[in-house]
Amino acid sequence: MKLTKFRVPFKKGISLSDYPTDYSGKFKSKEQTAKLLEKNIKRMAELQDKLYAHDKYALLLIFQAMDAGGKDGAIKNVMSGLNPQGTQVYSFKQPSAEELDHDYLWRINKSLPERGRIGIFNRSHYEELLVVRLHNLLEKEKLPDEIIKDNIWERRFRQFRDYERYLHENAIRTVKFYLHVSKDEQKRRFLKRLDDPAKNWKFSSSDLKEREHWDKYQKLFAETLSATSTKYGPWYVIPADKKWFARLLISEIIVKHLAALKPEYPKMNDAQIKNLEIYREKLLSEDVKVDTK
Ligand code: ATP
Ligand code: MG
Repeated sequence: MKLTKFRVPFKKGISLSDYPTDYSGKFKSKEQTAKLLEKNIKRMAELQDKLYAHDKYALLLIFQAMDAGGKDGAIKNVMSGLNPQGTQVYSFKQPSAEELDHDYLWRINKSLPERGRIGIFNRSHYEELLVVRLHNLLEKEKLPDEIIKDNIWERRFRQFRDYERYLHENAIRTVKFYLHVSKDEQKRRFLKRLDDPAKNWKFSSSDLKEREHWDKYQKLFAETLSATSTKYGPWYVIPADKKWFARLLISEIIVKHLAALKPEYPKMNDAQIKNLEIYREKLLSEDVKVDTK
């Protein structure tokens, strides 16, 4: 699949209405994508194993969406083949009093993946450019007036770009997904949450409040994605009305970015190989006999 058409172009404005939410390419059903998804999940697991052994790079995957956009399901599904030991998942909620007493990247920095790991952010510092901007929550951050007045959003865009460049230069690669659902599909999913007892807990009255701001959110997302899609932190707009297509596409993108890191198992040098021989001899010379076949 050609992935660049889903990538938000660098240094160019976009409008989300130009991106379809129900696209599924040549695929017509979940069944048609099942095998490919399975293959990608397997490939991801192989690459993750090497990434972990290599222990040099980390991959940070950021997921943002409107409510009911399918972040949780995509994370659960696409990452199902990964080794939990090499994966670190964080869900970012409203900041606590302690977090608000720090700069907004404080809690993000603490949650960055270690070397060799895949980090997954379910929401992220990008909320700072979305919900914080829409609801004017800057006051809670207790910033001085002069900082707020001085073009704060433009500055923050720059800070986000700079931060991801910094991460890149320190071997942490960032890839960002915006799960793009239509307003109709959100309504359908909310109704399902209300109808299905196993999903009731997922519904929150604030979801309806946020829905009232749909158009404003779409504009903010478009502006944010345009301003912060760079080669150090590309954004992908994932058509997400069809969950099965969204999951396939996300898996393709992750495989592509993982493979680009060219992770390899560490190679032994001659002295180490010699040592392995000595250890083998030592083990084999023991009285205890084992079948080594
Ligand atoms: P679900 O999709 O299952 O509802 P969720 O990610 O929406 O999961 P919630 O606990 O419902 O989880 O919501 C988290 C809330 O925290 C969101 O409304 C989000 O906008 C808010 N939030 C996250 N980061 C920040 C931030 N930096 N400032 C203010 N609000 C934030
Ligand atoms: Mg929610």
